[in-house]
Amino acid sequence: MTTRLYYTDSYLRTFSAHITERAEVDGHPTLRLDRSAFYPTSGGQAHDTGTLDGVAVIDVRVAADGGVLHLLAGPLPADAEEVVGVIDWPRRFDHMQQHSGQHLLSQAFDRLLGLETVSVHFGDELCTVDLAGETLAAEGLAAVERHANEIVWENRAIRAYEVSDSELASVPLRRAPKVTGKIRIVEIDGYDWSACGGTHVASTGSIGPISLLRVERNKDNSRVYFVCGARAVEDSRRRRQLLADAAALLDTAVEDVPTLLATRQERMREQERLLRVMQEELLGYRAQGLLAEAEPVGDVRLVAQVMADLDPAGLKTLAAGLVENPRVVVLLACGAEGKGTAIFARSADVDLHAGQLLRTILPRFGGGGGGRPDFAQGGGVDGGRLEELVAMARHEVSQQLTG
Ligand SMILES: [Zn+2]
Repeated sequence: MTTRLYYTDSYLRTFSAHITERAEVDGHPTLRLDRSAFYPTSGGQAHDTGTLDGVAVIDVRVAADGGVLHLLAGPLPADAEEVVGVIDWPRRFDHMQQHSGQHLLSQAFDRLLGLETVSVHFGDELCTVDLAGETLAAEGLAAVERHANEIVWENRAIRAYEVSDSELASVPLRRAPKVTGKIRIVEIDGYDWSACGGTHVASTGSIGPISLLRVERNKDNSRVYFVCGARAVEDSRRRRQLLADAAALLDTAVEDVPTLLATRQERMREQERLLRVMQEELLGYRAQGLLAEAEPVGDVRLVAQVMADLDPAGLKTLAAGLVENPRVVVLLACGAEGKGTAIFARSADVDLHAGQLLRTILPRFGGGGGGRPDFAQGGGVDGGRLEELVAMARHEVSQQLTG
């Protein structure tokens, strides 16, 4: 069985070991060693990377029999018996900061708010703790963050040691262990005791800043997103930059961004309202012009036209305005980004089924839609064939009205 060197020294970055077995796992040369500082994925903490005799270690797993498997990017010389292992230290230290920070936070949530940790996740970017209970107020979150960082500043020692079943009763564990026999305890001096096989920093000061980013509901639990150490520093720097970018775009100070945005939003809503009023007025004038030029078919005025500059909402307003007049039929189309919209409508005193007409014609141009006898709208038609569509509809209507 592999002696796990990180159990007793989580700061060990290089070591030498004997190869005890060579195998192949998922197509990769794989080694078992008599001893190793490489952490295998377990207990929520991700595996280490690094090198064995200069060959990249791409994955580290726990085998079914409890041994540690080192998956390599390439083969080692066939005669190699002893190897030198080097741990990718920035990656490992980051994992240690997140993991120790999580123990501290779970204890803080328990002490301050009486919230029990039901599960944890260490992601490549963000980490989470799931807390039993559905509600977690912003003040509670802020209080836990402040308290957790105070424990960081106190720089309490973090120790790992093993206890037997009989000694376990004297350890004030936050949660009951999942394993029996010898239990490894990770203690934040006088503050938290957890059964854990992970790697941890030597004292709370090395966790660095702890930032609680947000909380969301997850089934019956509250999921709190957090980052520690270098990640917290980077996260805070990135947020400062985002705010600075927003302030620069608005040509204002960072402090004034929310107020300025609220004012501008209000002004924009007012301008949009004004624009709608003006557009309706303008469309009223255009309707008059179209009616004046409309083609007489029997005693009906037929407005059949592609309105290239209108969007579907404008087209609808124009059509509705036109058919308020007596004896009018409108066949309008507009196009945007390759796909076109068509509206067929008529005055209340014209005998024509606009919906049926639309359902007959639009499918021939790749579109579809429907509507009432007096007003029908459809979309998805080939934007390059709108003139053809309107011409066909005009022909159809002329026949119906005169035939
Ligand atoms: Zn742990």
